[in-house]
Amino acid sequence: MTGEDEGLAPRLAAWLAAPERAGVLTDFDGTLSPIVDDPEAAQPLPGAVDLLARLAGRYRTVAVVSGRPVAYLLDRLGPLPGVTMVGLYGLEKREGGGIEVLPEVRRWRETVDAVAAASETAAPAGIYVERKGLAVGLHYRQAPEAASWVLAWAVDQAGRTGLVVHHGKMSLELVPPVPTDKGLVVAALAEGLDAACYVGDDVGDLPAFAALADLRNQGVATLAVAVRSGEEPPELVEQADLVVDGAEGAMAFLRRLAR
Ligand SMILES: [Mg+2]
Repeated sequence: MTGEDEGLAPRLAAWLAAPERAGVLTDFDGTLSPIVDDPEAAQPLPGAVDLLARLAGRYRTVAVVSGRPVAYLLDRLGPLPGVTMVGLYGLEKREGGGIEVLPEVRRWRETVDAVAAASETAAPAGIYVERKGLAVGLHYRQAPEAASWVLAWAVDQAGRTGLVVHHGKMSLELVPPVPTDKGLVVAALAEGLDAACYVGDDVGDLPAFAALADLRNQGVATLAVAVRSGEEPPELVEQADLVVDGAEGAMAFLRRLAR
């Protein structure tokens, strides 16, 4: 990103000039952590934790907004004072101490557990069923030939249970039918800020970009940063203000804000 650095500086002015009124929001998988075959093996890039801590010491709001459970983020990033962790696209949040779960989501726990168990029994070899507590992930990266099975299964389970299907990279997810996405999360986190940026790499990040566009219309300085991986949805790059290469590029962007 060094070549773009000079052009980038003026676009970061709102953050650098008044960090106490600015926010830095980021996805985790594919953004702070390179995409790996086994979703359980994802780890933040070296230096990511220190970088988040530095950003938290400087900016009013620093948040990791993920489709993973908060417990997963905590396990990978540690407690990180000053960093808000939002999990399961907004169903869970950790700000300071404990993990808050949206009350209307809790009653879906048993349904989610039952679907996870049924999926583990039914899934063909190579499908990884990720138990996320209040959601179930179905990953077919290691069995791409089973993509259509996964889609049919997820749609069938959604029809039976009332859960809804979310799409991700080489994965689908069944989640409670509670209206939440990264756009609602970003809008809430950015309330009262003069500047807000968001870095992400996947379809689940598109609502976050849309939320930034709304904020921009309200006079907030915004920057939507797409992480190019070769697997990113084309809309993400089309709607981005800045495109960076891989998790390394995302880190370079965040380092620029921490400098
Ligand atoms: Mg991601």
